[in-house]
Amino acid sequence: MTRFVQAGPAIRDPYTSDWQLQGWLDRLLGPAGHAAAKDRLAALAADVLGPLRAAHHDAETHPPTLTRFDPWGARIERVDTAAGWETLRASAARHAVVALPYTSDAHHTWGAGARVVQHALLHVWGPESATFTCPVAMADGAAALLTATAPDSPWLTRLTSTDPDTAVTSGQWMTESQGGSDIARSTTTARRRPDGTWTLTGDKWFCSAIDSAMAVALARPDGAGPGSRNLAPFLVPRYTADGVTPADGLQILRLKDKLGTRAVPTGEVRLDDVPAIPLGDPTTPGLARMMTLVVVTRLHNAAAAAAGMRRGLEHALSHATNRQIAGGILADNPLHRATLGGLAVDAAGAYALAAHAFTLLGADPTGPELRLVAPLAKLVTGRLAVASASEYLEAFGGAGYVEDTGIPRLLRDAQVLPIWEGTTNVLAVDVLRALTTGDGARPLLHRAEIAADAAVSRLPGVADAVVAATRRLAADVETAAADPRSDRVVAGARELALRLGNTLTAALLLEHAAWAADRGDDRPALLASLWTLRRLGAADVSADLHTHFDQLI
Ligand SMILES: Cc1cc2nc3c(=O)[nH]c(=O)nc-3n(C[C@H](O)[C@H](O)[C@H](O)COP(=O)(O)OP(=O)(O)OC[C@H]3O[C@@H](n4cnc5c(N)ncnc54)[C@H](O)[C@@H]3O)c2cc1C
Repeated sequence: MTRFVQAGPAIRDPYTSDWQLQGWLDRLLGPAGHAAAKDRLAALAADVLGPLRAAHHDAETHPPTLTRFDPWGARIERVDTAAGWETLRASAARHAVVALPYTSDAHHTWGAGARVVQHALLHVWGPESATFTCPVAMADGAAALLTATAPDSPWLTRLTSTDPDTAVTSGQWMTESQGGSDIARSTTTARRRPDGTWTLTGDKWFCSAIDSAMAVALARPDGAGPGSRNLAPFLVPRYTADGVTPADGLQILRLKDKLGTRAVPTGEVRLDDVPAIPLGDPTTPGLARMMTLVVVTRLHNAAAAAAGMRRGLEHALSHATNRQIAGGILADNPLHRATLGGLAVDAAGAYALAAHAFTLLGADPTGPELRLVAPLAKLVTGRLAVASASEYLEAFGGAGYVEDTGIPRLLRDAQVLPIWEGTTNVLAVDVLRALTTGDGARPLLHRAEIAADAAVSRLPGVADAVVAATRRLAADVETAAADPRSDRVVAGARELALRLGNTLTAALLLEHAAWAADRGDDRPALLASLWTLRRLGAADVSADLHTHFDQLI
């Protein structure tokens, strides 16, 4: 008897097969800028298809362990990680996924567009990095903070090194057990010693990438007032000068047993007068300084969401072309095509939002537009990523639920995206705050109006949907900004934020579509139309998703 064995999914080259990524790079960087990034992206994609996939698998199947004491009772706090994790660490340095925007070469070649190139690298590298994207995000955030507060620090040199032997990543210690969202409840204190140096004392509850050589911790300096704005960021070296012995007073109480991100060692940490270096003047309110880091990690979160969605699509597509169902090949089935087509449109929307956020980060990291776009991009992409991951599992049927296919990980790992660095609701409240800061939503609404105007002749129905959504939004934003603390406005914050994010995404997709149409490519217009009609017009576009499926992926 011959036994049927289903072929497993295979992925195509994540750079050369992704026409959407290539189109966005052509537009955002210009053809010469994209050409300058090609070798870098091609080399990374080749590694992703080869050694990095194996490293990812190794890191996922050999989770980290903590050994607190040596056999004789000496405290060592050693975190052991898989060989694959170390390979991924080296690849992050070598491919400059953190370093790129900090190098003078990149500035010379791409200017502010260096952040766009970095985003493309993350898009290709992230999905099968066993979530090494997490330490990468925090290292980039720390590098941005050090650039602003301690530009001569040797730690900055190491965070932005492309040499695997010297490069380090960073942790980010904010959350305490009594409050992750409400950091005003933090009890970790910072004390100035008579010699002018500082130490931290307190417990931190969720410390990811605890194997990093340093962390940025929030603490309340001696004499600082209550509330979150008076907290200040400190750099905590994890080890003493020998690079092996744990810092004095620093204990890792245990590693978390998490639903996903299993290769990432996440610890609970006790600090007992641990030496720390203030980042900026600790006698002045420091939360605003810390937000430099948080904005960057939120953007990395959006990048990880968009990249995971694209790679999930790739897996599901591969399976669909291999799988036989009643009536033929799964990939030919109209209902399955419409299902995957919807996911392709969502992945395109998430990419557009993340790419826009990185573009703003490159152009003006403290600008008013990014103030609103950073929480919006994280919020919208985080939710899309979880919903999409659930569909990707279902697209594999029972195999999607079986661990060693590697598919369940898509859902487990996606679920962290709407939690850390601000849950959906916490980000929605932050969006409300952003609406009353500076120009609030005006640039976003203006962008949507211009995109709709430009689309009127080519896509009149789509332009109408954007105009109608923007009008409603403008009225609702005004109401919200007039009384942002009222129960009614707060209760509607999530809905409002999602509508803002969806409208911004429609505008971004339409801008890109107009550019592509001028070059004879109508596929981006299709994606923009389907996104807009589904998300802003609440239309059933299933038949179109099926009919035009091949143009969406
Ligand atoms: C895998 C993983 C890794 C992490 N790594 C790190 C790390 O490296 N460093 C770090 O500092 N933290 C880390 N965290 C912690 C994470 O940032 C917090 O869990 C998150 O900020 C939520 O805080 P909390 O757990 O205290 O939940 P809470 O703040 O108690 O939230 C509980 C619920 O209340 C809701 N809520 C809270 N406040 C409001 C509000 N104002 N309005 C409406 N709803 C609200 C939330 O949406 C949520 O649904 C990590 C978490 C995970 C899951």
